[in-house]
Amino acid sequence: AKWVYTFGDGRAEGEAGMKNLLGGKGANLAEMSNLGLPVPPGFTITTEVCTYYYDHGRSYPPELKEQVEKALAFVGSLTGRTFGDAENPLLVSVRSGARASMPGMMDTVLNLGLNDLTVQALARGAGDERFAYDSYRRFITMYSNVVLGIDHHHFEEALDAYKDRRGYSLDTDLSADDWKALIPRYKAIVEKELGRAFPQDPQEQLWGAIGAVFGSWMNNRAIKYRELHGIPASWGTAVNVQAMVFGNMGETSATGVAFTRNPSTGEKELYGEFLINAQGEDVVAGIRTPQDITEKARQASGSDKPSMERAMPEAYRELVRIYGILEKHYRDMQDMEFTVEKGKLWMLQTRNGKRTAKAALRIAVELASEGLITQEEAITRVEPAALDQLLHPTIDPKADRKILAMGLPASPGAASGEIVFNSDDAEAAKKAGRKVILVRIETSPEDIHGMHAAEGILTTRGGMTSHAAVVARGMGKPCVSGAGSIRVDYNAQTLTVAGQTLKKGDVITIDGANGQVLLGQVKMLEPELSGEFATLMGWADKVRRMKVRANAETPLDARTARNFGAEGIGLCRTEHMFFDGDRIVAVREMILADDEAGRRAALAKLLPMQRADFVELFSIMSGLPVTIRLLDPPLHEFLPHSEEEMQEVAKAMNASVDKLRHRARELHEFNPMLGFRGCRLAVAYPEIAEMQARAIFEAAVEAGRRTGQPVVPEIMVPLVMTKPELDLVKGRIVAMAEAVKKESGVDITYQVGTMIELPRAALRAGEIAESAEFFSFGTNDLTQTALGISRDDAASFLGSYTQKGILPADPFVTIDQEGVGELIGIAAERGRSTRSGIKLGICGEHGGDPASIHFCESVGLDYVSCSPYRVPIARLAAAQAAL
Ligand code: ADP
Ligand code: MG
Ligand code: MG
Repeated sequence: AKWVYTFGDGRAEGEAGMKNLLGGKGANLAEMSNLGLPVPPGFTITTEVCTYYYDHGRSYPPELKEQVEKALAFVGSLTGRTFGDAENPLLVSVRSGARASMPGMMDTVLNLGLNDLTVQALARGAGDERFAYDSYRRFITMYSNVVLGIDHHHFEEALDAYKDRRGYSLDTDLSADDWKALIPRYKAIVEKELGRAFPQDPQEQLWGAIGAVFGSWMNNRAIKYRELHGIPASWGTAVNVQAMVFGNMGETSATGVAFTRNPSTGEKELYGEFLINAQGEDVVAGIRTPQDITEKARQASGSDKPSMERAMPEAYRELVRIYGILEKHYRDMQDMEFTVEKGKLWMLQTRNGKRTAKAALRIAVELASEGLITQEEAITRVEPAALDQLLHPTIDPKADRKILAMGLPASPGAASGEIVFNSDDAEAAKKAGRKVILVRIETSPEDIHGMHAAEGILTTRGGMTSHAAVVARGMGKPCVSGAGSIRVDYNAQTLTVAGQTLKKGDVITIDGANGQVLLGQVKMLEPELSGEFATLMGWADKVRRMKVRANAETPLDARTARNFGAEGIGLCRTEHMFFDGDRIVAVREMILADDEAGRRAALAKLLPMQRADFVELFSIMSGLPVTIRLLDPPLHEFLPHSEEEMQEVAKAMNASVDKLRHRARELHEFNPMLGFRGCRLAVAYPEIAEMQARAIFEAAVEAGRRTGQPVVPEIMVPLVMTKPELDLVKGRIVAMAEAVKKESGVDITYQVGTMIELPRAALRAGEIAESAEFFSFGTNDLTQTALGISRDDAASFLGSYTQKGILPADPFVTIDQEGVGELIGIAAERGRSTRSGIKLGICGEHGGDPASIHFCESVGLDYVSCSPYRVPIARLAAAQAAL
């Protein structure tokens, strides 16, 4: 079998389409070679070797060794060097590369093949001792850390101690002799930590590194990441072995990263950072502040260090030429890694670049306008969930800003929160319902959970391509990076800046738009949506079939929903209108009443309030459908809870506290979710449903008069399990409609339908549809009742179910397609066979979840309804589902 694929010299055995076999990095290195771009030659050991390795007790296929040797010889023939040779040694990098880029995998090892002999040859060949020994000490540090598992800090301490003794401040202050003096110390550290010498044999080094890459596929960080992102363990990683090129050969050498378009704003410009006389990770590690690539960017940043455009004009022009080729070829924004060795540019990686939602929108729309992609493709280029980022607040320009520090605007949006200094604290605070800003010197993959939990991230070190910046942009979290004037003291849990010390729990605000760090909470503005957003949404609206409605009951929510393009209200939860101000008193009076007359008296007080709410809602939604759900939650939820509240209500109602307590005890339920709620309330106390129906119809008449555009109210009966149940409630509603028609002289158009949220209702949907004019799938309750899992109690065990792969996802977030989905499918089919063209929608939390929206499209629902802020997400997801 073929386990190894070579690339280099304008050709390759692989290509971009072979990501499954070669991993993303390997496939794109092959593709760039095929395009004739300057790529150092190398080879990829396939992901199938990884699979083999784990299927065979961590051993390799027998043919592998020979194939690797042959590939090494191929690379040697292209470079004119020999791996392990004492005169003219080939040095390589060993790089991991899964199908999707995956933090948690082994870090790259550079300069592999160096030992006490080959380092001398490297020095002779380059005519530069300092360069050679600098490379060697980098190699010992990296290899020891990544392959041998010896912590960085041992080497850093030795280096710092050496620098202190010599009075050096920068690494670049060290001469060849200094590195020569340090290397034995490094080797001594290895011996002490490991009990054996640093491996001098290049073959041993190579296989050690290859083994470390495959081994890292099963380390905890990688497993955790796969779990979070649904990547199967069976995919495996590839290993790339590639001839070294050197960015640390003096002032005409450099290393850098660049994007073909600005990953924050989407602007069409070469965007990135580079460092002269540096290698690999130096740019992202934040050791020195990187320099701008273009002169325009340098002017904008005000940096006093020259841009690449100025410092290395030829290599810069070559980069410009190549980025044009790559973007045309991949038809998407590229994230590139490159190295300049003595003025010559080498490409080391390209991939579709991560970007903010704002940039994703702009890039998609502009690529379509440039004719590189179609409008349909543009729609698929934006992750619906990522739109969330755009819907986040920004700082009010008129607000007072007490600026503590400036950093880099690493990821847009603004956020306020209490300071925490580590990720576990961030997670704990989030669980406790507090908002935090995670403050770190720099972040690493171990901080992912803290970054998830935080409102925003602030680092004191690192550039626009640092870990914190990249990850925050991906998550859509505001981030300010490299705020160098802030001193963080992890032990004391404080930060100090401009003579002020803030401690854990103090509130700060970060502005990811300009890099400011501000004291205290600052006033924010709601986002405004226009430009590319509107364009892409327009394209999406053209192709989507399902309508998108919002779950809303307040005027504010209804307006927000309309602004975001909602085409109606899919769920108005009337109980939310019951809690307001002094209404709750009337509600409590109703609940406490001994008899129907007492209830009716209380309901009469509620009627004008409900009616006024509906008039406002109908006026805002004029002309659009509004689905109103009758009172749903168990009555006892409205009762006063504390002793204090009890007395307050008793007094207001002129009832005794004893009576109140007695009634509360009567209403107590062991399992309220399955208790006296939903249409069961209307069955026992039809007068409640009657009052609500009257309020709705009278409001419809009134709003129709006001706006001239009558709404068509859709009255929805919750928690129905049988047709007779629905019929009873529907009878009251219809009678009320007739009464209001007669009183007002206005002909009212309306519909009565039901929620399908119990398995029995889904199964009996055929007969229920004889009475119901529409169905709305209440997938929160349907999930609870189909799975027998209480959503409020699921936290303690549901995590184990997803971790152990028993459930593919949290069924309360993404619809359980197999079970709940089948019930929906059955109900849709049986409902339609009774009443062809019956209107079908979904109003659970799932209505705003892209994966669930895809499912809704597949069963042909007419609309999804979700929270107002998710309306744009649903519009885009519905379009993608329709394509
Ligand atoms: P990651 O997946 O973390 O980006 P890479 O394998 O891309 O890791 O390696 C990180 C960096 O190491 C590259 O961006 C490049 O600067 C440097 N590097 C990797 N291979 C080589 C090489 N053959 N020659 C010079 N530098 C290299
Ligand atoms: Mg890389
Ligand atoms: Mg429900």
